Parts: sequence; structure tokens; C-alpha cells
Amino acid sequence: MISEYYGRRVLVRRDQVAPAGVQVLATIKQQTSEIYCLRCGQVTPKESAALPNGEFYCPRCINLGRVSTLCKFYHVPEPNQFEVTSPLLTWSGKLSPLQASAAKQVKEGMLNHRRQLLWAVTGAGKTEMMFSGIAACLKRGERVAIASPRVDVCLELYPRFKAAFANTDIVLLHGRQELPYHYAQLTICTTHQLLRFYHAFDNLVIDEVDAFPFAANSALFYAAQQATKGDGGQLFLTATPGKYLLKEMRQQRLMVTYLPLRYHGHLLPGIKLHLARKWRKKLGKVLLPPSLVRMMRQTLAANHRFLLFVPHVADLPVVARACHHYFCEAKFTTVHASDEERLAKVQAMRDNDYQFLITTSILERGVTFPEIDVFVLGADDGVFSTAALVQIAGRAGRSLSRPVGHVGFWVAGHSRVVNAAVNQVRYMNNKGRQCQNAMSAL
Ligand SMILES: [Zn+2]
Repeated sequence: MISEYYGRRVLVRRDQVAPAGVQVLATIKQQTSEIYCLRCGQVTPKESAALPNGEFYCPRCINLGRVSTLCKFYHVPEPNQFEVTSPLLTWSGKLSPLQASAAKQVKEGMLNHRRQLLWAVTGAGKTEMMFSGIAACLKRGERVAIASPRVDVCLELYPRFKAAFANTDIVLLHGRQELPYHYAQLTICTTHQLLRFYHAFDNLVIDEVDAFPFAANSALFYAAQQATKGDGGQLFLTATPGKYLLKEMRQQRLMVTYLPLRYHGHLLPGIKLHLARKWRKKLGKVLLPPSLVRMMRQTLAANHRFLLFVPHVADLPVVARACHHYFCEAKFTTVHASDEERLAKVQAMRDNDYQFLITTSILERGVTFPEIDVFVLGADDGVFSTAALVQIAGRAGRSLSRPVGHVGFWVAGHSRVVNAAVNQVRYMNNKGRQCQNAMSAL
């Protein structure tokens, strides 16, 4: 089917004869000592890219199928051959006034094919805010994609979009999936899969662009750029913009919409820093920083629960031993990414069987427990990025029943990464206060 080439770069053997109307594109550009891959945009030294008989391949994007000089791409420029059915938007939820005004700005940007950023705090309800913009674009017959660096985000978005756009054909693409590709007006995919597209999308949305553990990187932005039509728009969504987006913002190459308040209208809990210079050494003597013990006591006395983050899986048993020492009555456990009982433990925390969990960064995204406080011991450890720390802090204060919460970071010394997280929360809260004041003046 020729439609499989619409807005795509499909790998075929070099000796195949192209069907009528199909363009042939090169796969690899050879330079003196390097090869340049025309799919992923990465450069590889010839000695690492050599095949027998003087042929070359790209080792960088090999998990999408091997691009080599033995192949070529088939491509047909995106013709936007879609049958637009109505009603397009079958979502019947309601946005808060603040969400609605952000959604309106996003929609305007999408209709004008702008490059824009929706900077919404954790727990703001980002997905719903793009629905009206996407619906307006689909109505014009545009091809739209929502991509995320993380498979779990794609898997979570797909059913929500299927419900919100029940009459629109949607294709879900990621590395773990078996379903064959088909031409559809709406695509949900990992950012890696965007490399299979070429000038396909009139509007491309990238969700959780700075999601841990995939920091925004040049490969991601390359993939986004080449998948978008030359005059297409891009919308980046994040709670924690990284260096690249902040720079683009400063240089006014991005239009920014802020959503600094959570869906319940409250600010983010501020991050309180505590200096604990030799905490690791003292931990060896089964001691925790006194200020941390105090905070934990306060939370438990107030009948609230908390998450205690530590940098490494190896820290878990040691910190747990110290916690047993201070809180021999408390019900708690440790959990980490490859813990076999992880799901059961998370469920037990949800069911109120535990008063706290000691964990590594695994629970930073997606998992929400209502009414909790959040503490991080060793926030200045290299494993935590600024984005991860903002996400971790954002676990607190998410529910309307307790929209505030305590967030404390314990550090052994000054850290730029930690300060950047504190400042990001402060920056959004300043914006949030302006919004609150403007709303109360109405
Ligand atoms: Zn490549």
C-alpha cells in the first residue's frame, strides 16, 4: 500500500525498483573518515560502521532496522488524505478557568503552527489542555502526533486519546509492540519512533520532554525536527524544562504558556533544604540527620504519611535499619525499581498499610499517594537530575483534601542541580501567585 510511505522513510533494499509516485531517498552520506546517517542524524567513524565489500551501516539507530549503504528509503510527501469525522472531540470533561485559558493559548499556537512550550506544574492536568487544540488541527485535516521519550507515557496516553477522539483513527507505535503500522491521522509514539517519519506532521506534541531518566538530548530534538513538516508546529509539554528548552525560551524561539497552579488551584509545596554534612558517615553508625528524624516524627504525629527517597538501592537496607532504630513502632518498607514485590508494596502503601516507604527515584512519576510529605536524603547525589528532583517534590500536595505538604531535601553540601530544582519551584510559585492575585481581583 502506497499510503505506508506517506510522510515516512521506509527502508528497502537498494536494488528494488520503486513503484510509481514513490521517491527514493539516500540512507547514508559518506565522508572522508566518517559516515552520516540520514535517518538519525548521527555521525559514526568509518571503522565502527564498516560492513564487508566497502559498505557501511549506522550502529546508532540499528534497533529501528539497520540503515546501510545496501538500502534506500521510500518516501511519499504527506498528502493529508484523511476523512474527518465529527464529532471530533468526544471528551466531555471540564477544564478549570486557568486550564481553559492555557488551552486556548495552546490551541492558537497549534493553529498557527508555532513552536511552543506548555510549562505546567506536576499535577496540573496537562493532557486535557491539548485536546481542543488537537481537535481544531484534526478538523482542518492535519496530521498530528503525540510523542514521548517514555513508553509508559505513550501507553498511558493511548486509551485517553482513544476515549477523547473516539471517531479518529489513532496508531500507537513503540519498540515493544507487534502491531503493524498503518496510515492514521493521529499517531501516538515514542520519540525514537519519530525517526521513521519524514516531514509528516503538521503539528507534533512532545509530552514529558524532560522525563527522567531520558534527559532532553539532541537526538530527541533531531527526531522531532525531521518528523515535523517544514512549516509545521511543535508543542513541548513539561513540568521541568531542561537546559535546551530554557535556552530556547530565553532566546525567544519558543512561545511559552505557563500553568503554575495545580488543578486544585494551589501552589507547589516549596522545597526546604537541610544541610547534613556527614550524613553518610553517620548512617554507618545507624544515625539519621536529627532534622530529618524530627520531620519524620512530625509527619507521623500529624497522622500523615511520607516517602523517603535515597540515592541508591544499596542505601535502602541501611536507612531502613536506622528507621527501625528511631521508629520501632512504625509500619514501613523499602522498594525500588527491580524489587519483585514492588507492585504489591505500592498497593499496600495506597491501602494505608504502610506509614512510609523508603525508595529510590522509581516512584517519581505516575505514582501518586494522596496527602503525603516527601523527603530526600542525599538530594545532591549525582543520580538525581534537576528534573527528577522537581518531579519527586511534586509528589506532595496533589490532592484537594491536603493540597499542601512538606518537602525536605537533605544535602551534604552546596549543589547547583539541587538549587536549580529549588529555584524552578520558586519561579513557578511566583507565577502562580500572580495568577491567584489576578483571579481574586476578578
Ligand atoms: Zn542512524
